[in-house]
Amino acid sequence: RLTVKKITTSSQALDGLLGGGIETRTMTEFFGEYGTGKTQICHQISVNVQLPPEKGGLNGKAVYIDTEGTFRWERIEAMAKGQGLDPEQVMNNIYFIRAVNSDHQMAIVDELQEKIVEDPSIKLIVVDSVMAQFRADYTGRENLAARQQKLNKHLHQLTKLAEMYDIAVVITNQVMARPDMFYGDPTTAVGGHTLYHVPGIRLQVKRSRGNKRIARMIDAPHLPEGEVVFEITEEGVRD
Ligand code: ATP
Ligand code: MG
Repeated sequence: RLTVKKITTSSQALDGLLGGGIETRTMTEFFGEYGTGKTQICHQISVNVQLPPEKGGLNGKAVYIDTEGTFRWERIEAMAKGQGLDPEQVMNNIYFIRAVNSDHQMAIVDELQEKIVEDPSIKLIVVDSVMAQFRADYTGRENLAARQQKLNKHLHQLTKLAEMYDIAVVITNQVMARPDMFYGDPTTAVGGHTLYHVPGIRLQVKRSRGNKRIARMIDAPHLPEGEVVFEITEEGVRD
């Protein structure tokens, strides 16, 4: 664990829960219901990886794989300003890729290694969300096994990139509080989404009052379990 580096989330509480921030060489998953802030966190980390180390960054660039069409450059701009960074420069340091289906999503990750070798300043890979395209492409119980197999390959590839190139990988997964609304797909249920099991850090995000959110650490091997409150503001993630 010697060389693990950390990226700040812009919330001291959330950083504390993570043992200092989002780790390189690791895959970190944020899961929770719609609107809990998973995408906002992904935007924030894509900005923050660009900060100098003394401010909680890695002087690095981000690859942002958007599978749901919810990435917004305006949010990057606002969060960059919130950090006192030049928005234009920050936007230039985010490689944005829209994945249109699960095969495309996998192909993007297949080609990432080449891109990382070309540009070693890439220190973050975001996949927001990791499951949406797989859920859309493999519907019905009879296709669960096939989907799981593809997804496991995808996740292991991401983990390998994280470990080989000292990169932080952040993925999101939407889960439902009421899984009965989703017919026959156990991976949509809180707790049931662990059908895939890959090493890494998993946090559940929950709604609280107003713009407040709760993050809960789920069975991290080297971090204590616990809950913290953070906020989503116009400038981004805050305490
Ligand atoms: P889903 O599972 O549907 O993708 P999510 O967990 O990714 O949901 P986000 O899109 O990250 O959810 O969060 C949306 C919430 O973030 C909004 O409901 C709002 O509370 C907050 N938010 C988004 N933009 C702003 C902003 N400009 N200023 C303040 N809060 C904002
Ligand atoms: Mg989202």
